[in-house]
Amino acid sequence: DKMIPDKIDYVFKVVVIGDSAVGKSQILSRFTKNEFCFDSKSTIGVEFQTRTVTINSKIIKAQIWDTAGQERYRAVTSAYYRGALGAVVVYDITKRQSFDHVARGVEELRAHADSSIRIILIGNKSDLVDMRAVSAEDVVEFAEDQGLFFSEASALNGDNVDTAFFRLLQEIYALSK
Ligand code: GDP
Ligand code: MG
Repeated sequence: DKMIPDKIDYVFKVVVIGDSAVGKSQILSRFTKNEFCFDSKSTIGVEFQTRTVTINSKIIKAQIWDTAGQERYRAVTSAYYRGALGAVVVYDITKRQSFDHVARGVEELRAHADSSIRIILIGNKSDLVDMRAVSAEDVVEFAEDQGLFFSEASALNGDNVDTAFFRLLQEIYALSK
């Protein structure tokens, strides 16, 4: 039997940024559909996916945007950031360079997005511990300096993906009240 959909209290736009192949699209499909797609094509054109969650009894629709092949930070346009209340910066724990680019990504967000934007950092592919190239301790220090919530996660097995997104949505909600 069909239920009448509850009314949505808030729509929060969230953008995902990070180097190509760090797993942005897979993190998105893990969070929004609880899926991991083994033969996914790289994303063409800017796209977003949504998931509706309840936080503090409020119904919140998270509208999460994927960079879609515009991974070079300079190529991400201001339209992408416009209206974004949250950002997820992703690197790959097996690719040192993808973490080296995180600081620039955070700078770009601070320069081009709304000044109140909430940012979290995800070190993806935590299932590939044997290939680790970035130590969590180094990242914790960076995240503390920048005042960012940080978690390692895996789009593949789902570890910490929901936790990180809920944390971000909670932070946005706390500011929007
Ligand atoms: P994007 O370019 O940042 O959107 O990266 P994709 O989501 O397309 O993922 C890039 C590659 O990394 C693909 O081959 C994915 O299957 C793989 N991948 C993504 N997330 C994970 C993960 O958590 N663990 C592992 N082992 N592979 C992943
Ligand atoms: Mg992608």
